[in-house]
Amino acid sequence: MSALDTEVLIVGAGPTGLTLALWLVRLGVDIRLIDRSVGPGETSRALAVQARTLEFHRQIGVVDDVLEAGIRLEQLTARTPEKVSAIIPLSKFGEGVSRYSYAFALPQDIHERVLVAHLEEAGVHIERQTELIAFEEKDDGVTVTTRREGVTKTFRTLYICGCDGARSTVRHALGIGFPGGTYDQSFYVADVDGDGEVTRNGMDVCLGSYGFALVMPVRQTGSLRLIGVVPEAHKRDPVITFETIRPEIECHTGIAIKALNWFSTYRVHHRVAERFRGGRAFLLGDAGHIHSPAGGQGMNTGIGDAVNLAWKLAAVLQGRAAASLLDTYETERLAFARVLIKSTDQAFKLVSGRSWLLGLWRRYAMAKVISAITRTKIGSRAFFALISQTGIKYRKSALSSGRSGAVQGGDRLPWVPFGQSDNHACLTTLDWQVHVYGEIEPAFGAAISLAGIPLHRFDWSTAAGRVGVVRNTAYLVRPDGQIAIVAKQDATAFERFIETFAIKPRNVEASTIERSSSLAAI
Ligand SMILES: Cc1cc2nc3c(=O)[nH]c(=O)nc-3n(C[C@H](O)[C@H](O)[C@H](O)COP(=O)(O)OP(=O)(O)OC[C@H]3O[C@@H](n4cnc5c(N)ncnc54)[C@H](O)[C@@H]3O)c2cc1C
Repeated sequence: MSALDTEVLIVGAGPTGLTLALWLVRLGVDIRLIDRSVGPGETSRALAVQARTLEFHRQIGVVDDVLEAGIRLEQLTARTPEKVSAIIPLSKFGEGVSRYSYAFALPQDIHERVLVAHLEEAGVHIERQTELIAFEEKDDGVTVTTRREGVTKTFRTLYICGCDGARSTVRHALGIGFPGGTYDQSFYVADVDGDGEVTRNGMDVCLGSYGFALVMPVRQTGSLRLIGVVPEAHKRDPVITFETIRPEIECHTGIAIKALNWFSTYRVHHRVAERFRGGRAFLLGDAGHIHSPAGGQGMNTGIGDAVNLAWKLAAVLQGRAAASLLDTYETERLAFARVLIKSTDQAFKLVSGRSWLLGLWRRYAMAKVISAITRTKIGSRAFFALISQTGIKYRKSALSSGRSGAVQGGDRLPWVPFGQSDNHACLTTLDWQVHVYGEIEPAFGAAISLAGIPLHRFDWSTAAGRVGVVRNTAYLVRPDGQIAIVAKQDATAFERFIETFAIKPRNVEASTIERSSSLAAI
């Protein structure tokens, strides 16, 4: 190959590309990361950082910095024009499901800066003002053309990852369609300083016949994010300025605005790419799916794509898995994106539909229904699993098999706390591992040890039973914390899987049976 070769070229340094870069670097892959912009984004955009994203960030050691920079949201207050109609506590609504059982907000620009700082610490330099122009797959690699300050360069990479946003150059170059549509309503988003009856440590949703408006803290400095539907009377204005719709914004949110820090309006699209892969090129994040902001899922889904692809690419590049492992990226993530588009579409229609019936539903029923659901333990957990993305399952994936109790192959490893620690602590190795909660049968232990897969034994606990783990069952856990196989301690299913996908663990030295004394002692 010619000069400036790399194993993986990442196009786009938004949250998706930055996460992919960090995971690949931690996994020892040689990368280049290019972005046509001058620097990281400067607007707050995605505020909601979901629990599953925080769990992924924990695996690569960035979660503490992310948590330090953001705000925990303690409650959701639903208001109608007349009154506060429901208060839903958010501080522990995922209690027992995740270490990060609360709602958490961090402006996207700060989030990106935290990820950039960790990349720089790892010695990765983002090549800014560098635009992908074209690429072509040939001779077991990809020839890429980029342009920087008018100068065109060509180099070779083994894989190219399009994390280049909704207008993705990679997607266009692959000729992959982006079917879907655009909602009729336009949205405004404003970051302001202001006064009003809002919860400073929570999120307020203001529901009315006009649709909805959302108020939440943006920065630790105390500014507020206002987001809502552009009033009907102005939606066709060629240019919608803040001052034109300020009276409606103040009326719907109840905020007296003192200063405006950022204002934007946008149309919302709902689209999913027909494919997430074309040969050695992959689509991730907004390049593959865009949808309504309902539920704060967009950025988090991009980060989930990045994690799903990163460990598979690393394993194939390092000869630790068969190339067929890469096929599972599209099957797993495309299926999830399609489900997500449907659910965000339904949620979006409920919160912004214009019919009088939906208007009545929002004004008199919606908050009470959600409040009633989340007041029950089952309802609260189901709601949390959906919003936080901890409920993501790949049960139909070629990598998933077996079932014991409520847990199936493809599910996320249920979270089991042990004193100050938990069973997700060992996922920081970014490696395959087998978990047993109870006792290990010697023959099974010996077979897993022989295969080189780290084996973790945890003392049986009621906490494990509560989240659906079954005593003495064996769980083969993927590097991203999803379960591949759930089975009795019979090594056959595990050996067959390891052989089919030619799995080799990263750290052969860790292949002895491990007993974590801090966990086992509790
Ligand atoms: C107002 C607003 C509010 C939102 N709120 C939320 C929320 O609360 N929660 C949530 O999860 N999501 C939210 N989103 C969505 C979220 O911002 C996006 O989903 C997220 O930015 C997608 O990240 P990405 O890295 O995939 O793409 P992007 O952030 O779009 O990054 C793509 C990058 O690729 C670069 N690029 C593009 N083309 C090229 C090229 N040819 N060569 C080199 N570089 C290129 C761009 O410069 C850019 O830096 C919101 C979005 C908006 C607009």
